Amino acid sequence: MTFNILETVRDISESIASSPNFKQAMDAIVLKIAAAIDADACSIFLIDEETQDFSLTSTTRNLSLNEGQWKIRRGEGLISRVAQRGEVLNLEDSEKDPLNFELPLNEEEDLSFHGFLATPITHQGQLLGVLVAEKLTREKFSQEAVSFLVMLSAQLASDISNALISENDPQTFFLAGIPASSGVVVGEAIVVYPPADLNSIPDHKISSDIDDDINAFQEAIHAVNQSIENMSKALAHSLSHEDQLLFNAYLQILHGNSFKGEILKKIRSGHWVQSALKSVVNSMAKNFESMEDIYLQERASDIRDIGRRVLAHLQSNEATIQNYPADTILVGPEITASMLAEVPSYRLKGVISGQGSANSHVSILARALNIPAAMGVKHLPLSLMDQKEIILDGYTGRIYLEPSPILKRSYLRLAEEEREMQSSLKSLSDQPAETKDGKLIKLSANIGLIADIDPAIQVGAEGVGLYRTEVPFMILERFPSEEEQRILYRQVLQAFSESLVTMRVLDAGGDKILPYFHIEEQNPYLGWRGIRMLLDHPEIFLIQIRAMLRASVGLNNLQIMLPMISKLSEVKEAKLLIRRAYEELQKENLDIEMPKIGVMIEVPSAIFQLEKILQYVDFISVGSNDLTQYLLAVDRNNARVERFYNTFHPSVLQAIWQIAKLTKQHHKALSLCGELASDPLATILLVGMGFDSLSMNAAALPRIKWIIRGISFTDCQEVLEKTLKMDRSASIKRYLQETLIDAGFGGLVRPHKIT
Ligand code: PEP
Ligand code: MG
Repeated sequence: MTFNILETVRDISESIASSPNFKQAMDAIVLKIAAAIDADACSIFLIDEETQDFSLTSTTRNLSLNEGQWKIRRGEGLISRVAQRGEVLNLEDSEKDPLNFELPLNEEEDLSFHGFLATPITHQGQLLGVLVAEKLTREKFSQEAVSFLVMLSAQLASDISNALISENDPQTFFLAGIPASSGVVVGEAIVVYPPADLNSIPDHKISSDIDDDINAFQEAIHAVNQSIENMSKALAHSLSHEDQLLFNAYLQILHGNSFKGEILKKIRSGHWVQSALKSVVNSMAKNFESMEDIYLQERASDIRDIGRRVLAHLQSNEATIQNYPADTILVGPEITASMLAEVPSYRLKGVISGQGSANSHVSILARALNIPAAMGVKHLPLSLMDQKEIILDGYTGRIYLEPSPILKRSYLRLAEEEREMQSSLKSLSDQPAETKDGKLIKLSANIGLIADIDPAIQVGAEGVGLYRTEVPFMILERFPSEEEQRILYRQVLQAFSESLVTMRVLDAGGDKILPYFHIEEQNPYLGWRGIRMLLDHPEIFLIQIRAMLRASVGLNNLQIMLPMISKLSEVKEAKLLIRRAYEELQKENLDIEMPKIGVMIEVPSAIFQLEKILQYVDFISVGSNDLTQYLLAVDRNNARVERFYNTFHPSVLQAIWQIAKLTKQHHKALSLCGELASDPLATILLVGMGFDSLSMNAAALPRIKWIIRGISFTDCQEVLEKTLKMDRSASIKRYLQETLIDAGFGGLVRPHKIT
């Protein structure tokens, strides 16, 4: 037997992805494995969550009982031996082994199996089941077959584990995408394809009159312009002004010189209009795709979308009018912002796209419309999905096809609870975040783009606790000038003129790459990030500080925050530069107040110098995202080690507690602006630790406020004390979950349960 192991593993893995459900995927696997290694039978046993027995999930054997009825008790037989030892077993004759391995054969099938090969299926340290191959002959399997089965079971483990995660229905199959907008929905999948295929256009020279092609092109541009304007109008009530600007971006491309101008030039030089369009669209899209910045890469999809729309008009085969059901979940290989805009907004309940990321325009729109979205979903079985009922979980990016009644019921309940909660939470926007015994916590917003301002104001954010100024830097093609920055910062300060805005100075580096300031590093998270880069480039730092200070004239609600501080000298140096910028501006007769200056505590070394650092700053803000990453030595963006990235790790909680205690002792303002602030499980702990303010994304703010208003500070302190004594994050989470449920906030922790 010779075969390409890698190719076969890949082939099997792909066939799982394209199977409509878990059972069919498993059935396909056993058949393919048996064929690949010349086995006479192949079976998969998975551990039953409840009984912990091995349950036969799929087999090529002809059994007298249904597969699901077959269980092997944990501890019994060869299967248990493989599981216990966690290693491969390759036997000449399983019948001779005292532990034996028996499945009930169909009586008509008088066969006995001897050769036996089994491997454990283990995902991230957890045993999920055992894969078994058998032969009728008395012989071991070849070494090649052993390698194949070991590789395959490692590969299969993550697919199987994904499917097993659902608690209510362990054998539910799902597709995994990038969560791009939160929320859950059960709805009808409507599959849409790009209206016309540019790549099928042949390249040839013009055969008719050039003027005819120019006229046809101008008409198509006019028609597309009209349809974009119509879409923008249709969504005018649902989108903020900022989000509507996305359609202006489309129009700018449509009429821009690099698009329209270039195509006209090509037609005039003798190219057929359709091939001129294809060539310009492809070269513009390629340009964007080659950019480092993921936001700019996504613009390639806008260009292609516009190209297809123009082509559809040139071919006069506009997309057929779709009938969208009341619970439409738009699905497609590449959903674009304009496809989304074609669905009446009151019918659009979710978006799933084979391409794209959380930065795509379509994701931005989905978030603005408050509907769940999953992007970048690999192997979407589009033909099986159209007009079928599906579940989209925007919290995890999971899509369940043909969901079981149990799963459907729990998601419908979750969706209903979310709706109820959202509407009751809305009424909280003008209420203070005050505990039952009168402790006030300031809840402010994390923002990055101007578009984030409006949602923050809507939910009643008391200022901005973290303005990630690198975000606007990331979507430009060069460093913004001092004046450009001033205008931008002024908008933010003005929008929150009654409260404080904490502007974090440029935290570039890590995964936040400026496309025009290329830094090539092996290990960017441990590299030239944040304050390190700024102190090496005081000219960049000073321009930003000057812009912030000038933007604050007359408003005086600015606070400046320094990221990635790892030692005291960085604070001192940065403060000197800030003072220098301030004095320069005073000399220019600007009437500004010296803003409060604070630091982020997100690098462990800063904790050990905190006492000294506190003497130089007005406030501190815990960056729990990076603090977790650096304390636990876990890359925050690496999916493989995601399970080690745990903000509820006892050491992380201890570190935050130390920071909180010291800061309070020095009577300095204490805030936290990492993702932990928006996790309901953490609220009780953070209140108990004495945080004065928490800063989070706008969507999370109402529920955190709801919790704070329903608990007392003294209870929080008690819970904190107990938690700090625990030594496992799993027990900590369970305890916090139970505490929240007891306090009447079960609805908030349920999403954790389903996912
Ligand atoms: C953090 O590290 O917790 C933080 C808020 O900063 P960022 O996520 O932007 O690194
Ligand atoms: Mg950080």
